[in-house]
Amino acid sequence: MRRFGRVEIAGGRRAFAELSADGRLALMSDAPWLGGAPTGEVIDAASARALAPVTPSKILCVGRNYRAHAKELGNEVPKEPLLFLKASSSLLDPDGAIELPPTDVSSRVDYEAEIALVVGKRARRVSREAAMDHVFGATLSFDVTARDLQKQDGQWTRAKGMDTFCPAGPHVVAGIEELGALTFTCSVNGEVRQRGDARDMIFAMDELVAYMSAFFTLEPGDLLLTGTPEGVGPLAAGDALEMTSPALGALRVRVAAGPR
Ligand code: ZN
Repeated sequence: MRRFGRVEIAGGRRAFAELSADGRLALMSDAPWLGGAPTGEVIDAASARALAPVTPSKILCVGRNYRAHAKELGNEVPKEPLLFLKASSSLLDPDGAIELPPTDVSSRVDYEAEIALVVGKRARRVSREAAMDHVFGATLSFDVTARDLQKQDGQWTRAKGMDTFCPAGPHVVAGIEELGALTFTCSVNGEVRQRGDARDMIFAMDELVAYMSAFFTLEPGDLLLTGTPEGVGPLAAGDALEMTSPALGALRVRVAAGPR
C-alpha cells in the first residue's frame, strides 16, 4: 500500500507528497493521479500541516446506501443509487473544525462517516467490470449534514454542501487489495457511534462508480462518497469527531460554532 497526502509547508507552499513508513514526506510535482513525480525534496511529516488530500472538480455522493441507515431515518431502501453533489468548497482539512451554522439557519447538524473513493483515470460511461480500474485509492470522509435543512429544502444542496461539511483525509491510500471489504468506526468524544463494513453496501463500489459515470464524467482526483451506515447523530460545538479504519488511518476534526 502507498499513502499520498497534501501538505502546507514553510512559507505557505502547498504540495502533494508520498508518506513513507518512517514518517517522512517525499514532495511531488503534482497529484499522483495527474502524473505527479517526486521532486527529490524530502521533509519531516511533523514539520508540515496536513491538508485534505484531494482537490476535486466535484464531490459525488450516494444517499441511503446501507439498509440499517435508510431504516433509522424512516426511508425506503432505494431501487437505484440516490446521487447528490457536495460543493468542492465544503472540503475540510484533517484536524480542522466543522463550523456549525447559526441556530436560526440549522439546529441539527449530523455526522455521517463514509469511505470515499478517489478517481484515478477519467471515466465516462464505464462498465461495472471496468469501473474499479478508474479508481486510484480511498480515503476517509464525513458527509456532514444539516438534517433539518435536508427535510425543509427537499433537495440537499444547502444541507450537505456548506463550508467545512466535507472533512477528508488524512491520506489517499492506493494498492488496497479489496476496497469493497474496508471496515471503519466513527466516534464522538471517544464514544463509538458507527461501525461500517463496505460489504454491507446496497450498491457495491464498482456498481456505484459505473452508475455515477453514466451521468457525470469522473475526473482524476474527484471524490466519491459511498454512503454511511447506521448510528448517525447530532454534533455540538466542542465535540471531537474521529473516523478510523485499519487500512486508511484516522481522520480527526473538531466541531465549533461558525461565524454569524
Ligand atoms: Zn451520506
